[in-house]
Amino acid sequence: MLKNDQLDAWDRENFFHPSTHLGQFARGEAPNRVIKTGEGCHITDRDGTRLLDAFAGLYCVNVGYGRQEIAEAIAEQAKELAYYHAYVGHGTEASITLSKMILDRAPDHMSKVYFGLSGSDANETNIKLVWYYNNILGRPEKKKIISRWRGYHGSGLMTGSLTGLELFHKKFDLPLSQVIHTEAPYYFRRPDTAMSEADFVAHCAAELENLIEEEGADTIAAFIGEPALGTGGLVPPPEGYWDAIQKVLEKHDILLIADEVVTGFGRLGSMFGSEHYGLKPDLITIAKGLTSAYAPLSGSIVSDKMWKVLEQGTDENGPIGHGWTYSAHPIGAAAGVANLKLIDDLNLIENAGKTGAYFKKALEAAVGDHAKVGDVRGEGLLCAVEFVADRDDRTFFDASEKVGPSVAAALLEEGIIGRAMPQGDIIGFAPPFCITEAEADEVAIKLAKAVGKVLG
Ligand code: PMP
Repeated sequence: MLKNDQLDAWDRENFFHPSTHLGQFARGEAPNRVIKTGEGCHITDRDGTRLLDAFAGLYCVNVGYGRQEIAEAIAEQAKELAYYHAYVGHGTEASITLSKMILDRAPDHMSKVYFGLSGSDANETNIKLVWYYNNILGRPEKKKIISRWRGYHGSGLMTGSLTGLELFHKKFDLPLSQVIHTEAPYYFRRPDTAMSEADFVAHCAAELENLIEEEGADTIAAFIGEPALGTGGLVPPPEGYWDAIQKVLEKHDILLIADEVVTGFGRLGSMFGSEHYGLKPDLITIAKGLTSAYAPLSGSIVSDKMWKVLEQGTDENGPIGHGWTYSAHPIGAAAGVANLKLIDDLNLIENAGKTGAYFKKALEAAVGDHAKVGDVRGEGLLCAVEFVADRDDRTFFDASEKVGPSVAAALLEEGIIGRAMPQGDIIGFAPPFCITEAEADEVAIKLAKAVGKVLG
């Protein structure tokens, strides 16, 4: 085994970490952490520090760490057949079974699943499918995609453009010109505090409609959104939001892509966010919870309506010119099958709903009355606490004060991982679905301590 010093030196010298301050890290001015083991909701680093991971990695280890059933399924698949591709009709028992399991769980009007590796590549696939669809229908001008400010859809060229967060655009020459953004359904940050929830929903729908009319509906192909905003702030939509948005989309013949990378497979306490909020998407993006991150795997679930057109396209033009070497990778598929079985066997989605409601109440009780806490929100096991300089007139802190990151750092000292979300002073929680009420209480109590330390 490598000595710690050696590992640290190699880490600083060789490893380009994602979403990391590159210079500070290379110079040793920002901490590293080497994780060794995981069990349930906890991870342990090489120094033996045990942390309660209340963000499930990057809200992906939904069944919790250390599940032997999934590890064994992966090992068996690797021994029997580690790889074969899925081009020109090839498959494995695992990939075929998983596609059936996904469609059994998806809304009734969905028809097929295309497998990728990450949430980003699945969204990239979805945009290509939307363009292919409109080309087959003879509408080559109908190509722009509307996304929301604060939406998160990945960090590729197209998907980084769809993402509505400044950090993901800055110095990358994004967004690309085919992407346009509209208002986020973020009631706490509504433009005018006097707006009721219903007024704000009407405002979001009107903003969307204005944008469509300005650009011309015949130039807009699709709207993409997370059923509940994730990385942009962990915000459940206001009541009636999706109904209002879908009415506008239907009127202008614009496809709906539900990005369920976070919400798919139970995080809100329902199998899909689409089912939770009454969306009828044309495409659904899945990743994280599909395998609980035991292996990389994502998917694009395609509706009947789109599938019929895609089929027609390949009848006219030959096989679809889209595929990855690792599409439907057998090891990922084996992990997915074992993961979805485990979620059913242990009733984990029901637990996400029940413990999620309990957790939100515990957070409200612990910090809801603090003078610098503006909002405590959540749906299922997707919860957030947002800090403000003044809650009466809803003044936000300046980003340079780093209030969110400071609270997350203080919480980490208490042994709890929460996530300082990238834009705004928001600390997010999205623990594994196996979290107990006692663990939820522990997170809330320690958060109150951390908030007290940072904000008095
Ligand atoms: N969509 C959503 C809603 C996400 O939260 C994420 C990742 N956090 C992605 C897409 C991109 O997934 P990946 O990081 O696997 O590319």
